Amino acid sequence: MDRHVAEPTAIVHSLPVRQHLPEEVRERTQRLLEELCAISSPSGDAAGLRRVAHRLREVLAAHGLAAEIRTEASENGDLPLLLARGPRRAARSLLLIGHMDTVLPARSPQREGDHLVATGALDMKGGLAAFVGALDLLQARGASYPADLLLAVVPDEEVSGAISERTMRELGGTARAVLVLEPGEARGEAETLVAGRRGMREWRLEVLGRASHAGLAYWDGRSALAAAARFSLDAAALSRPGAGPTINVARLVAGSADFVGQLRDRAELVGTTRQLNVVPDRAVVEGELRFLTLAEGDEVLAQLRSIGDRVAAEFDVTTSFTSGEAVSPVDPHGPGRDLAARAVSLAAERGWRLEVEEDRGGISFPNFLPCTVSVPVLDGLGPVGTGMHTPEERVSLTSLSRRTVLLADLLATL
Ligand SMILES: [Zn+2]
Repeated sequence: MDRHVAEPTAIVHSLPVRQHLPEEVRERTQRLLEELCAISSPSGDAAGLRRVAHRLREVLAAHGLAAEIRTEASENGDLPLLLARGPRRAARSLLLIGHMDTVLPARSPQREGDHLVATGALDMKGGLAAFVGALDLLQARGASYPADLLLAVVPDEEVSGAISERTMRELGGTARAVLVLEPGEARGEAETLVAGRRGMREWRLEVLGRASHAGLAYWDGRSALAAAARFSLDAAALSRPGAGPTINVARLVAGSADFVGQLRDRAELVGTTRQLNVVPDRAVVEGELRFLTLAEGDEVLAQLRSIGDRVAAEFDVTTSFTSGEAVSPVDPHGPGRDLAARAVSLAAERGWRLEVEEDRGGISFPNFLPCTVSVPVLDGLGPVGTGMHTPEERVSLTSLSRRTVLLADLLATL
């Protein structure tokens, strides 16, 4: 963790950022982060979340943002949602997104060299502190942030809550660009931001064969299991490494119709010799696919459907293929591409290397935007660290400074 100090190149790299970040702004930003992390705000802890929201409202108001705390109903209870707006109400605003909930309750923050060890320091109170630091830095420069800025900080991201999804759908639809304050990743001396995020779609195949006695009339049977197994192998084989699509066959249940249809009651058959003499006439396969562009998702879905048809003909069984609604991907070569390139060059101007992640997995804020193909999205703008969601969670303070400057530079150009 001391490699920032140990390697001479790193010293050369970290100096310019310091030069561009006045000592008092750096200190205020670190102190705010410690303060936010000291407030315990695991998802569902309404009182703790409210304390974080109040502290944020205070510091945002000090920078001229009109901040309000709304109470939103959800399956996790009534929770606070923080919205902060710049002075100009625009039809299309610059949307910044973060969350104030953590997975674990807080432990008391500790400084360890260049790191702050604290719950949520990385995911993602670090991003929130960097944003406030950026406002602070702009003010120190005598510059201002975009007047149409709109910051939303949700309370239930870590539990994939309804408030997060609803907020993204509502505010994302009218955004001119979306900046997500979730953490980037460390890559040696470099750090990343996220330009691409996979979309997801769930699917299900049902197979109906014909049961028969495996001893007396084996060739009269039509095995739903064999058909489902062939489908599963061919479906998984559509997966491509790197940026390509992936198909996860998550479950295959096959056997007699009563076994599959009443799995809970009939599970005791597994491990016995009962019904091993029956050609299985029922199978269900369930899974999901992930993809970087909607077109690719549609194409893979069509391929899965046609594998289902082919298997039906080949095994003389009936298949029915269904799928859920698509969770939109963020295409790394979509409208956010220029924004990512701008961030990379702004970082380079300050003497550090920022790399672009093109295919981060996992469903997150950008996936819930109503239209990811028309709005530029830049994710992973928060500082890097390690130990996310563990008691050892820590954030790099060098990265906190870098991201503070980067956010200020970005806001100045937007
Ligand atoms: Zn997060």
